[in-house]
Parts: sequence; C-alpha cells; structure tokens
Amino acid sequence: MFSYRHAFHAGNHADVLKHITLIATVRHLMRKSGALTLVDTHAGAGIYRLDDEAAQTSGEAQQGIARLQGLCAPQSKPNRPLAPDGQAPDAPDIEADALQEYLALVASFNRSGPAKAAWRVYPGSPFVLHALMTEPERAAVHDRLRLFELHPSDWLALQAHVAQLEAGRQVSMAREDGFAGLKALLPPPVAAGGSRRALVLIDPSYEIKSDYAKVAAAVQDSLKRFVTGVYLVWYPIIARPEAHALPRRLKTLAQQAGRDWLQATLHIGVPPGGAPGLSASGMFVINPPHTLAAALRAALPPVVQALGRGRGQAYTVDAG
Ligand code: SAM
Repeated sequence: MFSYRHAFHAGNHADVLKHITLIATVRHLMRKSGALTLVDTHAGAGIYRLDDEAAQTSGEAQQGIARLQGLCAPQSKPNRPLAPDGQAPDAPDIEADALQEYLALVASFNRSGPAKAAWRVYPGSPFVLHALMTEPERAAVHDRLRLFELHPSDWLALQAHVAQLEAGRQVSMAREDGFAGLKALLPPPVAAGGSRRALVLIDPSYEIKSDYAKVAAAVQDSLKRFVTGVYLVWYPIIARPEAHALPRRLKTLAQQAGRDWLQATLHIGVPPGGAPGLSASGMFVINPPHTLAAALRAALPPVVQALGRGRGQAYTVDAG
C-alpha cells in the first residue's frame, strides 16, 4: 500500500511551483465565461494544517510557503469582470502577478488569526480549484470539479474536508485510480454556449516507478479523447531515468498532437554539506495559455530568491 502522505509536503517548493502554475492557468481560462470541467486525478487530502505534526516534522512548508508569506502584498478586492464571451475587456493584467495571485489565495485561507501571524493553513489543489470556481464573479458559471484519491486516510480526510464546502454536485470525488477515472470524464460535457472546456491536473507522488509510464499513457489517451483540453503534469527532477524521460515524452506527445506546450522547472539548490529530500521539480503544461510563459518568468525569480538554498538554484521556463 502507499506510504506517501502529502501532509508532510504541503506548501513545499514543489507545491509552490505547482500551485502558481495552476492558478495562473485557471485564472486565464476563467476569463471566458464557458463552464469548465476541472479534474484533479491525485487530489490528496484537499487542505492541510501547517502547525500539525506532519508539517512540523518535515519542516518543508517552513522552507517553502513560509518564506514567501512576507512577499504577500495587502490585497484590494480583485476587479475581474466576466465578459459574456471571450476576453474580459478590462481585466487586470493578472498574468504579470501570478505570484501575488497565489499568495493572496493562500492568505485567504488564513484570515482568522492575527494579521501578521504565520500562516497555519495550506490549500491543496482541490481547495485551490474550488476557491477559484466559487469566486463571486465566477459563481454563476457552474464549473465542476472532479477529484480522485486512493490513500485510505487521505480519502477520508478529503471527504471530510470537501463536505465542509457544502459544494453539492459541483464537486464530486471518488476513491478510485485517477488515471482510470480520467477516461470517463473526457471529452467533458458541452457547456451552455456550446463549448467543451476542461483542465486536468495530474499530480502523482511517483512513489511507484510505473507512475511515470502511467502519466504518459494518460496524457496520450486524453489527447485522443479531447485534444483541446489543458493538461498540467507535475513531476520530480531526480536522478532516475524515468523522471528524465517523462517531460521529453510529454513534449513528443504534444508535438505529435500539434499542440502547444510549456515546461517550467524550479530548483532550490543544495546548500554546502548537502541536504536531504527533493530539490527540484517541474510542471509540464499542454495547451497552456499564451500568457503563461511570461507570467512564470515574472513570478519565479522572487521565488528562487526566497527559497534558494545554494548551488544549482534556478528556474527555467521553455515553451513550444
Ligand atoms: N494534488 C495534490 C495537491 O496539489 O494538493 C497533492 C497530491 S499528492 C502529490 C498525490 C496523491 O495521490 C496522494 O495523496 C496519493 O495518495 C494519491 N494517489 C496515489 N496514486 C493514486 C492513484 N492511482 N489515483 C488517485 N490517487 C492516487
């Protein structure tokens, strides 16, 4: 059975890269009024305490999101009107501020304590997506969120957390293999206005070596079912042939399907004397918003500065 628990890793550098990319992508898609099907094939527990034993034991959030809290600007209410069709004409330049959008979203889960207190709650991808789809200017659109989680404890936690959202049929979840469950969701249903729109986050723990091949197979199959979907894949950058091969394989799949792609990586580097654990990861996006590369090139330099630990700290953003 699985031993990976995301509670030990929530808010670490990998989550920072993943969730900045996810939020910037979803926000761009939400500039259009057609309803979205959002799929999270590997959901985790949904939301995490940063002051619980798991987070305190690993210390990963301390080296991640905690170092970014000080960069969070005081937020005014975002002005994000929805156009009936197409781009909102006077939408602010949100891509230029993907880091602030991310920090504001995390801050919104931490409003109950004193203003300057250390953040104690970290939203996982299900709660990130739910927060975006229920913002007042999006509420009438009826986006839907589909979640999969297999770990018995995280499944129970996810169920309990999602129940608190009282989201009704807008959010559904299954204790199923997310790779298999994805097949039944694509292509997504036709939304009001006649369009089909879907975004899929594939975020396994890669605890099992076969996950790498399963990710590639899921993307290949998904592109056949729904070539215009937006697919986001997180992957670790580690010394393992499968990990090196995965982004190359995803690029080939995108190119064979004639679709645009984007690859972003975040390396926090290694301090003198070395450090245990993951030091780099990447996001591969198929059919990315045309604004995403610029958004990440603006967002990631301050992240590297805040989270970097030494030799090799860097970010990359490539697109094709
Ligand atoms: N996406 C989450 C986030 O960003 O907050 C984190 C997910 S965590 C990296 C991966 C999760 O996938 C773990 O909770 C694990 O139990 C679960 N998992 C592993 N294999 C799975 C599978 N085949 N289908 C669904 N969930 C799976």
